[in-house]
Amino acid sequence: EPPRCMGDRCEKICVSVRLRPLNEKEVARNDVSDWECVNYNTVIFRNGNLPVPEKSLYPTSYTFDRVFRWDCSTRQVYEAGAKEVALSVVGGINSSIFAYGQTSSGKTYTMTGITEYTIADIYDYIQKHAEREFILKFSAMEIYNESVRDLLSSDSNPLRLLDDPERGTIVEKLTEEILRDWDHVMELLSICEAQRQIGETSLNETSSRSHQIIRVTIESSAREFLGKGNSSSLAASVNFVDLAGSERASQSLSDGTRLKEGCHINRSLLTLGTVIRKLSKGRNGHIPFRDSKLTRILQSSLGGNGRTAIICTMSPARSHVEQSRNTLLFASCAK
Ligand code: ADP
Ligand code: MG
Repeated sequence: EPPRCMGDRCEKICVSVRLRPLNEKEVARNDVSDWECVNYNTVIFRNGNLPVPEKSLYPTSYTFDRVFRWDCSTRQVYEAGAKEVALSVVGGINSSIFAYGQTSSGKTYTMTGITEYTIADIYDYIQKHAEREFILKFSAMEIYNESVRDLLSSDSNPLRLLDDPERGTIVEKLTEEILRDWDHVMELLSICEAQRQIGETSLNETSSRSHQIIRVTIESSAREFLGKGNSSSLAASVNFVDLAGSERASQSLSDGTRLKEGCHINRSLLTLGTVIRKLSKGRNGHIPFRDSKLTRILQSSLGGNGRTAIICTMSPARSHVEQSRNTLLFASCAK
């Protein structure tokens, strides 16, 4: 049996927060952590030295589906914060896993592990279900400045989005590799990583300004019906989304002169916030999927019966307290 989408959980977006350890630079400048995970789902701000007005401006306690302490492994984050949502894909349900947070908070670190664990579990599932035939497809893209680039192609020309009446938004000419085996997965993941690095040197710090989507599509059908015009076939995608640094969104909101540039660069991040806030309040009313490339590409997994998990990554350092609060605010809105 594929993992089931259970009851009202289907409607909800699963939101968790992951604190990374203080890094060497932060330790060297005597930065300290102000955040503490007090149980499995609550993180508190516990700086006793701040003046009272500063303290009272913000909530001191935040509750989500899960919070992960600095010493949690990515395996633990995957098991408790992403696995159920990600693996609903084997039952024919689209899903997306997002990493949201400021640059250097641990988005790529977290998403890299989650992507590998999910694909390994998909292979494990396939092995245990010999009665079905599976085809896995892999594609990867980057959205920078509202322009979409294929991460599996050396051609850096922007790709167009097309509306297909049956399949929804499709990315024209996006490379789609049929996965052969685990080595092939590893090879494709390293190509994506290398492509992203190339972008980084030519377009100055793109990785903090760009969104990366890795998409794995699973098609399956029961072998006993193969070639007999069967109704047992399933197809769905899981999307692993490593978002642009969230500091861009907040800068563009707080600094008027950068508003225009910021909105353009991060229209996708801002629209994603709006879409997620609206979805978390229920699926009625107008949801502006079409306002950005990211939300258009992900519409079929964010809307409908698609499932979503968001891992918000956070630096524990006092010097990052503003950005950490913005991240917690985003996470709270998604709940
Ligand atoms: P981002 O993608 O958000 O900019 P990265 O994932 O690149 O951030 O992380 C920044 C640095 O911190 C990297 O060197 C990464 O290995 C390290 N790091 C991030 N999260 C953790 C963690 N939970 N444990 C240990 N190191 C981490
Ligand atoms: Mg990154």
